[in-house]
Amino acid sequence: MSIAQNLQNFTSQIPNNVTLVAVSKTKPEPAIREAYETGHRIFGENKVQELVDKYERLPKDIKWHMIGHLQRNKVKYLASFIELIHGVDSFKTLVEINKQALKHNRIIDCLFQVKIAEEESKFGIKPQDVRELLNSEGVKSLSNVRIIGLMGMASFTIDMDQVRSEFKVLRQLFYKLKTEFSDLKTLSMGMSGDYNIAIQEGSTMIRVGSAIFGKRTYS
Ligand SMILES: *Cc1c(COP(=O)(O)O)cnc(C)c1O
Repeated sequence: MSIAQNLQNFTSQIPNNVTLVAVSKTKPEPAIREAYETGHRIFGENKVQELVDKYERLPKDIKWHMIGHLQRNKVKYLASFIELIHGVDSFKTLVEINKQALKHNRIIDCLFQVKIAEEESKFGIKPQDVRELLNSEGVKSLSNVRIIGLMGMASFTIDMDQVRSEFKVLRQLFYKLKTEFSDLKTLSMGMSGDYNIAIQEGSTMIRVGSAIFGKRTYS
């Protein structure tokens, strides 16, 4: 099936309140244009250089999401245009995003990445630490960033019960914090292999790459 058909399928399949981020990392410009021509506007990338190159060459009404781990020294390259940063997992990174956002007179929306997977390699804030961070004077004092939600990645496993229970942890945390922090509205969880479970578990934003664009030869 073509990229356009895959996208069409997704859009008709997912509930209205779930936003689809088309993850175009490693995919060439023509593939993104094909998706763009169906009317899709939200794309996700996980490497700063690649994201900036694509931003420069592709239509300016694309809403770019940074979904990968963001190094502090690279925030400056994205600050003028990025729509949403999914992977914020430290106060220091947030301070840098705020500083760069200020330079461009923007407020940059961010998600806190929460560590829900058992694997050691995944980045993220521990679930039990998220509330304290949101409540800290440090975070509250940053005028040019807005934490609008949480993001998480489940373990890379075929055990779907485990995936579901990890999503549940994030879901419960999110819906609890939402009653206390009114800016929280986005729960980013779910990828090609697990978006159905993520949606059942309350996801409002799925990040789908290979199920739209086909397999990647490298990640
Ligand atoms: C690559 C990536 C995705 C999309 O993965 P697929 O399995 O291709 O859908 C989603 N989220 C993050 C953070 C990624 O790096």
